[in-house]
Amino acid sequence: MSLPQGLRGDIRLDGITKSFGDTQALAGISIAARPGTFLVLLGPSGCGKSTLLRVVAGLEAPTSGRLLLEGRDVTGLPPAARGIAMVFQSYALFPHLSVAENIVFGLRARHVAAAERQARLAAAAEMLGLTKLLGRRPSQLSGGQQQRVALARAVVAEAPICLMDEPLSNLDAKLRAEMRREIRALQQRLGITMVYVTHDQAEAMSMADQVVLMRDGRVEQDATPAELYARPASVFAASFIGTPPMSLLRLVPGEHGAEVAGAPGIAVAPASTAGQVLGLRPEEVTPTDGPGLPARVQAAEFLGAETVLAVAVGDGAEVMQLRVPGHHALPAGAPLRLKLPPARHMFDAASGLRLP
Ligand code: ATP
Repeated sequence: MSLPQGLRGDIRLDGITKSFGDTQALAGISIAARPGTFLVLLGPSGCGKSTLLRVVAGLEAPTSGRLLLEGRDVTGLPPAARGIAMVFQSYALFPHLSVAENIVFGLRARHVAAAERQARLAAAAEMLGLTKLLGRRPSQLSGGQQQRVALARAVVAEAPICLMDEPLSNLDAKLRAEMRREIRALQQRLGITMVYVTHDQAEAMSMADQVVLMRDGRVEQDATPAELYARPASVFAASFIGTPPMSLLRLVPGEHGAEVAGAPGIAVAPASTAGQVLGLRPEEVTPTDGPGLPARVQAAEFLGAETVLAVAVGDGAEVMQLRVPGHHALPAGAPLRLKLPPARHMFDAASGLRLP
């Protein structure tokens, strides 16, 4: 490829919109990924993730906006001219072809010479542990092995950009966790730019360098996983990331400052924050023997290393979840007091946006 170094694998989307009749699937998306970035498109069902990926692939034309790959405007180019590899949820393997034939199918179509095909096949098969399975048909493979064949097909393409749409959704939880690590390692080893679609926040957080959280065809937040967790830009982002999610409590005016609704007499934040929403991550709140916010256990979920407590605050108008270490012998109904950190996450009640 005769492109300037440093531009390899660079992606930029400028104001991409896409309408299907009356449905606006994408309402103006502008994002950029630097070469070698693992970018995850995250969001609930219907937010437009797959449509956006299909626009990048060239399988769908945007209604407006521009797509630049490696500095070049490819908005009007067909998929094959974009230099992109893609892995689908369904794997899209040909049932009548062997594993080896499936892997090199695209190379054959592009008239890559036989010796070169063979070399790339051997290297990809080795990388993905498929060497002994090359003669089999897809139907003779496990789900995880089929997934690896789909990955190998992307690897042999030697494209600087790879797109994946929920590639792990057909695998069981254990295999999914294993394949997450494998895909991440592969991406880093090849140094390619990845655009990866998922609705699973844990998958996004564990794999991504950059998470683009989407909602109703728009970008809700574009940040690193650490930023997204530490400084969610909105109530939506705060509730979408983290298990259990951030608790969101309404603040009302009190005698000495803002109070949690239903827990009078205990100021938890400055008076000026009354009317706003206080966000608390489950690990930011701890039970205390000293003074604290009165609460009552609603449910305790023992998870081994930790227990997640759902507690009703004060008279029960607000509920929150907290994470306590190990086995916590607090039955439902037990009273406790909670120590709150200084208010770190505050949101505007009307707009849902983070306040500085
Ligand atoms: P999921 O996680 O469920 O796949 P998604 O975030 O990938 O959801 P999209 O598949 O991109 O969402 O769909 C975004 C919106 O566009 C939805 O309202 C969907 O119904 C609509 N849509 C997508 N493709 C088409 C199409 N070909 N024709 C009409 N509407 C479509």
